[in-house]
Amino acid sequence: MLPELGPLNDWETLCHRCGLCCFEKTVDRRGRFVTSCVPCRHLDIVSRSCRVYSKRLEVGEGCVQLTSELVRDADWLPDSCAYRQALNNLVVEGRSGGEG
Ligand code: SF4
Repeated sequence: MLPELGPLNDWETLCHRCGLCCFEKTVDRRGRFVTSCVPCRHLDIVSRSCRVYSKRLEVGEGCVQLTSELVRDADWLPDSCAYRQALNNLVVEGRSGGEG
């Protein structure tokens, strides 16, 4: 079971807007995802923000809502992603929090 992460707005403030999730991915020979230098056509590469953020799930680019459940399984997100790091930290804290 995943730890509680609070309201969606709190969750979204975790993002440090690196924009790496908005670049196409390739898969290397070992099956690992590699971030390419090709951005989504809706990404402003200077500000690293999505130009259609409020409609991103509807524009047909395959954008997904990053929930904690999705992030847990999203090996295509970079290790540096703030969501992955926050989730990993919560899991580590949960493990050291005395359940065992
Ligand atoms: S990779 Fe993670 S931290 Fe970077 S912009 Fe995407 S969601 Fe935000």
